[in-house]
Amino acid sequence: MLQRMRSIIGPRFSLVEAEDDFPAVMRKRTLYVLAEDGQVWAAAMTCPCGCKAILHLNLLADQRPCWHLNLRDGGSLMPSVWRKDHCGAHFWFREGRVHWTADQRNTLWRDLRLRLGR
Ligand SMILES: [Zn+2]
Repeated sequence: MLQRMRSIIGPRFSLVEAEDDFPAVMRKRTLYVLAEDGQVWAAAMTCPCGCKAILHLNLLADQRPCWHLNLRDGGSLMPSVWRKDHCGAHFWFREGRVHWTADQRNTLWRDLRLRLGR
């Protein structure tokens, strides 16, 4: 039941390819990617917890930490995103949606706030 509610409330993100760099002001619910020669090498999004931080995700295998981005079905990141410092947000990004890990609190509220764009 809770899982079903989440899938209704949790909004889907847009996947946007940025030109040369990430925009100075990033829209919410958007995963930006930078690509060169058809190869995505960096991604960024505003933290879905609502803290307004920008999360930069390296997609290059020879740098750490590194995420793998599957662009199908709205985009999926491997592994999970975990901000151990600062807000402590920990989530999986799968098929364009944020799935909070079990250790996170107020997740329904966060999803609702994301959907309302605040
Ligand atoms: Zn955050």
